[in-house]
Amino acid sequence: MLTSIAGKSVIVTGGSKGIGKGIAKVFAAQGAKVMIAARGAEAAELAAAEIRDAGGTAEWLPCDVADWESVQAMVERTVELFGGVDILCANAGIFPQVKMLDMSPEDWDGVMATNLKSTFLCVKACIPVFEKAGKGRVIVTSSITGPVTGFPGWAHYGASKAGQLGFLKTAAMELSRYNTTINAVMPGNIYTEGLQDLGEDYLKTMAASIPLKRLGAVEDIGNAALFFASDEAAYVTGQQIVVDGGQILPE
Ligand code: NDP
Repeated sequence: MLTSIAGKSVIVTGGSKGIGKGIAKVFAAQGAKVMIAARGAEAAELAAAEIRDAGGTAEWLPCDVADWESVQAMVERTVELFGGVDILCANAGIFPQVKMLDMSPEDWDGVMATNLKSTFLCVKACIPVFEKAGKGRVIVTSSITGPVTGFPGWAHYGASKAGQLGFLKTAAMELSRYNTTINAVMPGNIYTEGLQDLGEDYLKTMAASIPLKRLGAVEDIGNAALFFASDEAAYVTGQQIVVDGGQILPE
């Protein structure tokens, strides 16, 4: 059994939906205090309420992860409310599909800001907190798309997700002086509300093409994040783990 993270303060960006909500629930089930950071109030309130109804501790704060002042304010308020930040899950991301011919420079910049710049901003805002505490953990949600595979319409998305892994190598070296680790989870196809739009038949075909014959659950990503947050992972930093049911294995 992993060492308990009960009582630890965890920020989950994008914790109001999908994978982030799964991460938030997994951490809350272990007794952590979860701060959900997202833009939309309705989903964030609902996610926090679901966790509280299940006996956990969760609050939410409005935050645009692409905006430095917004990120700083969110981290400062979390420290006020929870007494610190032990673990940052930099998870929020967007994945609009646009082929390059139709992709505007603004489309590119928007995805880079929300997926990649945000990772830097969230880590930067937490550094003084980690420094003061003498410890910290960062878990980044990257993807297999970009670092390992490609997908038409996701040139900007793939570049942002590969960029996160490039960022974390140097970040791991810099954060080590604050006894802080940073690692990434690289999900494959995870079943979220967003995927439902693709239709039942498409999802069945997708699942059949995966060696473990199912789409990933949000909890699969939450559990990998939990490992990186645990004491047992104290000597692991600058690394990434693929959680994809074997999707990227060669035939
Ligand atoms: P969802 O669309 O289900 O959820 C995205 C979350 O991020 C929401 O809570 C959303 O809230 C938040 N968010 C988006 N933009 C911002 C912003 N600017 N500031 C703050 N919060 C923001 O996505 P997923 O759960 O599917 O994806 C989560 C992460 O997992 C992403 O980084 C994605 O790249 C990665 N991933 C997902 C895979 C999958 O199969 N689903 C596969 C591989 C990686 P709001 O809009 O209210 O701000």
